[in-house]
Amino acid sequence: MKKFKRILVANRGEIAIRIFRACKELGIRSVAIYSNEDKTSLFRTKADESYLIGKNKGPIDAYLSIDEIIGLALKKGVDAIHPGYGFLAENSEFARKCQEAGIVFIGPNSKMIDSLGDKITSKIVSKKANVPTIPGVEKPIESDEEVVEFANRFGYPIMLKASAGGGGRGMRIVRSEDELVESFRSAKSEAKKAFGIEDVFIEKYLEKPKHIEVQILGDAHGNIVHLFERDCSIQRRHQKLIEFTPAISISESQRKAICEDAIKIAKAVDYMNAGTVEFLVDKEGNHYFIEMNPRIQVEHTVTEMVTGYDIVQSQILIAQGYPLSSDEIGIKSQEDIKPRGYAIQCRVTTEDPSNQFAPDTGRIDIYRTGSGFGIRLDGGNGFTGSVISPYYDSLLVKVTSHSRTFEDAIRKSIRSIKELSISGVKTNTGFLINVLNREEFKNGICDTHFIADNPSLFD
Ligand code: ADP
Repeated sequence: MKKFKRILVANRGEIAIRIFRACKELGIRSVAIYSNEDKTSLFRTKADESYLIGKNKGPIDAYLSIDEIIGLALKKGVDAIHPGYGFLAENSEFARKCQEAGIVFIGPNSKMIDSLGDKITSKIVSKKANVPTIPGVEKPIESDEEVVEFANRFGYPIMLKASAGGGGRGMRIVRSEDELVESFRSAKSEAKKAFGIEDVFIEKYLEKPKHIEVQILGDAHGNIVHLFERDCSIQRRHQKLIEFTPAISISESQRKAICEDAIKIAKAVDYMNAGTVEFLVDKEGNHYFIEMNPRIQVEHTVTEMVTGYDIVQSQILIAQGYPLSSDEIGIKSQEDIKPRGYAIQCRVTTEDPSNQFAPDTGRIDIYRTGSGFGIRLDGGNGFTGSVISPYYDSLLVKVTSHSRTFEDAIRKSIRSIKELSISGVKTNTGFLINVLNREEFKNGICDTHFIADNPSLFD
């Protein structure tokens, strides 16, 4: 067991703060890095130490400077690096270089990241694990002829997907052969531009599915458990907006089958640390594996609220070699994990719903939040006087409610969001409340098209 004394967080904003808090609670010193553009950001003040990185690199590249980050970690006597989500979280080269430098990467090893980070290799893993995937090809499409042949084989609509895609980007729906070749070519060049790899593959497009995912924890001793599922179907342009647990639209037997399949995927790659296995569920109730994310996810909060386990602390403990059954992590067996109640997370963003959700920037003049019984707030860089810059994602605060009943969790979410008072930048709070107030949401039945199908939510 290697005891960590210092952890560097290779990230920014709310997830950096979340990790600093976990470090503090575990008695570990936290080290922040920040870009030039983040000099005045709140997160860096929440760490015990903070250092400027990527001085001449620009706002995003600063957080991607692998060698500089590892060099700094070595200089500062850091034992481990937590990558958070986004940036270097799924970069196997970074995980490998950390290991070579004698620094623990808090996450799975580079081999596991390689076998899961890419959507095509994930599909191959799921075949091996005997878990259903969406019908499609398991290799990059090479030519115009191939794309036509495959599309005809599966039948329209189909989805073209960038193998390296993420964050809801790099996907295209094609409904007829007329659009196919043109879409294929532009999908390829877009993938190259956005992800550096032009590989594109095809799968059947599911009409209005639900997105259900399963939280996994695995230790370094071969023990793997699931912490049940989350419903992440409320999405805008394939990006999650509201997530909750448990998924109330699926039956007990479906829940059991989905969670068991998630464990099968994790076991197929000897998964270690926290990860999420994502599925789409079609109208008939069939579930299909889409990908496994080898990292902490934005929506981990809802799982923490209902299970009572601290997933970020667990990640750090697992990386030190603690078994899941240790008193520190506290999971003696799968049967030990008994979710209580309902939790909902809403992502409050600095986006302008009246202008197609364009990110808004500027100085926040007033910043007041609404906490209280059953509300957890995971804030990013918002405070009175803070400046929201255009360089980073627009997540301002995550509002997570927890209650005995789903109805009450919704009421708590609405109450908290209404209490938020933010001026100086536009936010999506009105839009979130419109969704939370809908009967379909109350019944837990919204699919991934709910927002696109309901223009009145924008009123
Ligand atoms: P990313 O890695 O970019 O998050 P995912 O593969 O996880 O991409 O998919 C994100 C979302 O895109 C899903 O939750 C779903 O709404 C939609 N999606 C992905 N694949 C399909 C598909 N074959 N049919 C219908 N919708 C899909």
